[in-house]
Amino acid sequence: MKKFPEGENYTDFISMSKPLIHEPDLPNLWKSGDISPAHCISCNSCYKTMFNGEVYCVVRKRLENKKLQEEKRF
Ligand code: SF4
Repeated sequence: MKKFPEGENYTDFISMSKPLIHEPDLPNLWKSGDISPAHCISCNSCYKTMFNGEVYCVVRKRLENKKLQEEKRF
């Protein structure tokens, strides 16, 4: 991840809505020192959820559902 030089105004705006949909706690993770890249794969599937009243990460929900099914098997 690139770091911005300190003490100068190099950017006016950073857009990262999709990564925050996938990982709402991402800013706190980065603030804690773990600067791993966001896990959002920019597939845009979350846009389709907006029209049903709830916005969520489709990829994350699939992974969580798969994990739940695997836990039920054992
Ligand atoms: S659905 Fe795709 S684009 Fe949207 S937050 Fe999840 S991984 Fe990112």
